[in-house]
Amino acid sequence: MLDPNLGTNPGPNKGFSRRQFMAHASCFGAFYGLVKMIPLPALAAELAGDSRVSQTVIADKGFASVRKIGDGLYATISDPSKGFTTICNGGFIVGKDAALMIEGFGSPAGASFQFETFRTVSKIPVKAALDTHYHFDHSLGNAFYGGNAIPLYGHAAAAKRIFDGYSVLQGADPSIILGPLQKQLTDAKSDLVKQHLQTDIGAATGLFGAVNASTLALPNHHVDPAKGVKFDLGGLSAIVESYPGHSGTDLVVRVPEQNVVYAGDLLFNGWYPVCFDEKATVSGWRQTLKTFASWDKDTLFVPGHGQVCGQEGIATLREVFDDIAGQAEKMFKAGVPVQEAQHRYVVPDKFKNFPIFAWGFTIGPAIAKLYADWQPK
Ligand SMILES: [Zn+2]
Repeated sequence: MLDPNLGTNPGPNKGFSRRQFMAHASCFGAFYGLVKMIPLPALAAELAGDSRVSQTVIADKGFASVRKIGDGLYATISDPSKGFTTICNGGFIVGKDAALMIEGFGSPAGASFQFETFRTVSKIPVKAALDTHYHFDHSLGNAFYGGNAIPLYGHAAAAKRIFDGYSVLQGADPSIILGPLQKQLTDAKSDLVKQHLQTDIGAATGLFGAVNASTLALPNHHVDPAKGVKFDLGGLSAIVESYPGHSGTDLVVRVPEQNVVYAGDLLFNGWYPVCFDEKATVSGWRQTLKTFASWDKDTLFVPGHGQVCGQEGIATLREVFDDIAGQAEKMFKAGVPVQEAQHRYVVPDKFKNFPIFAWGFTIGPAIAKLYADWQPK
């Protein structure tokens, strides 16, 4: 859930009229417009000499492009500054016998773009598709797989989270999601808090619009997080494992023969991490990143958002968490109340170009979760 109050409909149009909503929604760019969406950076210099990574893309629609990143391995990288068809990253793995599609993306058209691109390189059957977690930008295009009779895998909890989190929004009045935020905005005392809440309203508006533009479709194969699953695609194996941190439903896909990992949203490369999920854990996530950092130094990562990267991407996200935790700890020790601390974090110069997908989805909840961990039990 986005907000603890989300399930409590405050009543028709309370605090936020349909017209106001449409004014926001008419520009779907409001989604990220307030978030200052920064165009996707080019491939890092570190990857220029990596023989696995093609320097040219095989398809480019602006909103996303597809690049070869290994033998039978492809990454679909989104650039949300150019459109919201896919929103997240994904990819596909092509063995001798079968292929695996990764992510349902933000819309069926996004999943279709990836599938059609796959078909330009191979005609082999698709064994399965997989959502790395339940979030809307990774699952709203699932209906494409359903419509094409492709088995869809997700974490054992993903189907329920999609249903519980998003069906309540479908056909609902936007005040169900925007009402509580609008009230907080009305009550906000400082400009800083108002600015942060505006970004949250932008993101929530986008989420509401995207969910209402889609038919929900749920994974029909449930991956036990304790066991994972292994796909033998013929000469290539894709190992699906669960790690804690971002959503309580996070899966990664490893291709050990080539040291390539599709990390889902456990890796935001060059972004502030989205921590709002009720099942997100900052401590668990930092532990997961420590594990990723212990893997081979040549590991290539496809993040959930941002450009393909090597271990430097993991190191940077760890630094971001260290910075948030460092600033939060100072405030905690100084007795700054959590409600205030959540807004007082200062983005340092070195991260100033990192997109922040709404303050209340990223930095705010990260600080709240850290505070909760430090509170004497
Ligand atoms: Zn996510």
